[in-house]
Amino acid sequence: MPLNKKTLAVLGAGISGLSAAYRFRKLCPDATLRVWDRRERTGGVLTTLHRDGYQIEQSADNFITTVPYLVSLCRELGIADELISTNPRFRRTYVVRKKNLYLLPDGFLMLAPSKMYPLAITPILSPSGKLRAALEYFIPPSQSDDDETMKSFVTRRLGREVFERLVEPLVSGVYAADMNQLSLMATLPRFREMERQHGSLIRAMRYQMKINKQAKSQSQESGARYSMFVTLRGGLSRIADTLAANLPNDAIQLNKYAEKLESFTEESGNLKWRITDQNGFAESYDAVIFATPSYETARLLTPTYQRLGGLLAGIEHSGTAIITLAFDASQVKKRLSGMGFVVPKIENSPILAGSFSSMKYEHRAPEGKQLIRVFAGGARSPEMADMSDEQLLPLVKKELRPLLKIDGEPELETVAHWQRTMPQYHLGHLERIREVNEITAKIPHLALAGNFLEGVGIPVCSLSGQNAAEQIVEKMRWKSLTST
Ligand SMILES: Cc1cc2nc3c(=O)[nH]c(=O)nc-3n(C[C@H](O)[C@H](O)[C@H](O)COP(=O)(O)OP(=O)(O)OC[C@H]3O[C@@H](n4cnc5c(N)ncnc54)[C@H](O)[C@@H]3O)c2cc1C
Repeated sequence: MPLNKKTLAVLGAGISGLSAAYRFRKLCPDATLRVWDRRERTGGVLTTLHRDGYQIEQSADNFITTVPYLVSLCRELGIADELISTNPRFRRTYVVRKKNLYLLPDGFLMLAPSKMYPLAITPILSPSGKLRAALEYFIPPSQSDDDETMKSFVTRRLGREVFERLVEPLVSGVYAADMNQLSLMATLPRFREMERQHGSLIRAMRYQMKINKQAKSQSQESGARYSMFVTLRGGLSRIADTLAANLPNDAIQLNKYAEKLESFTEESGNLKWRITDQNGFAESYDAVIFATPSYETARLLTPTYQRLGGLLAGIEHSGTAIITLAFDASQVKKRLSGMGFVVPKIENSPILAGSFSSMKYEHRAPEGKQLIRVFAGGARSPEMADMSDEQLLPLVKKELRPLLKIDGEPELETVAHWQRTMPQYHLGHLERIREVNEITAKIPHLALAGNFLEGVGIPVCSLSGQNAAEQIVEKMRWKSLTST
């Protein structure tokens, strides 16, 4: 059967599924394409709310540009001129210590410092914590090839205090994970590589900084330069909306839940999928890209591919909640010079992190207003993702009031609950995904995309969608050649 007569279903219209559908459409413009989603809208977790002049990101806040794929995709979609860099006046992060905000030492990047002086004078660490961090220079690199947890790696290199006071809150603010289980190699493998190559993370960071400086001064690059994180003027939902708008009119099928999936062979010998929705209505497809959360993909695949289903079902997820509060700027008395703050676990706070959304990106609030967003839950306090708004809001406001010296009540408050949305990259994740990929490669009419594969960030999810589309086209092309 020629490729343009083939039918593809993409399950899930989040950024992964929409990116897969968009890429598939480019590669096979005449093939039949359907994108199923159980919700009444596209975008998956990406949700931008526009209310009373505020722009509120209900889940992802912005995305990283060091994975360049999404910026390129925005260019291709014609929306790159809407990309906005973070406000250069506030590109610092605070860390909470004993209910006070302190700036993260300048040059401290996720796991390690690139400058020693700011670390030496920070009030966040004790003198013995600083001394232990400086000893990192002299600690020999591990000779083992085995993966290790984030906690074990950072404690081994930089000491317990740097882990507890700096790294744990910074990493929790991204992965919402348990550091005793989070795999270094599945999340931030470049730090292990730095240890190997330079013998010390501090030495590696300083070297990297020098290289970056040289590259910057020699760069003749023209065109737009973006900060490390960017968003879109219309909000992150714009990306999903634009991807969907570039698909054929009949492609997106909303309120359509893939309840059951069966594989069967036609009389002609073609392998097909039959997908049944919540109303018992079944449709058949030549191929399926699964861009649903891994536990949903597992549920659908287990009857046909037990080992694959079992591997996917073994990926745990944490839940989070995003609480957004808007104030008149005069109500927030604390003078702020950063974009947000992270809270170490040892502070026993219900909050993982907070961001000053309208300082980070000015367009998000009317003049004279302050939009504050709080990230709560995760592996640290999973119960928070399940709490009602009535339980969450007082807890969060009580915590923020002394921290930011807030007077009175917010003029707007919203809560978004995200149960089971953050896949946990525990030790063993890389091996699990390696086996998932090996099995998937052998199944002719199936490909996988999503945030459980190679990274949770939107650019990596989008790239996973593109890769899945390319894999499925390759498989179908090969199949159509062998069947002629
Ligand atoms: C609170 C929060 C904050 C985040 N912050 C950031 C950030 O600042 N920057 C960043 O880069 N990333 C961030 N992330 C991560 C990132 O947003 C997600 O990893 C990414 O958007 C996931 O996209 P996805 O398409 O893989 O999955 P999803 O967005 O979950 O989409 C999956 C889709 O599948 C549908 N579906 C499920 N089951 C079925 C079924 N059986 N049939 C049909 N449809 C089905 C669902 O309805 C959903 O629409 C954040 C995530 C959360 C939750």
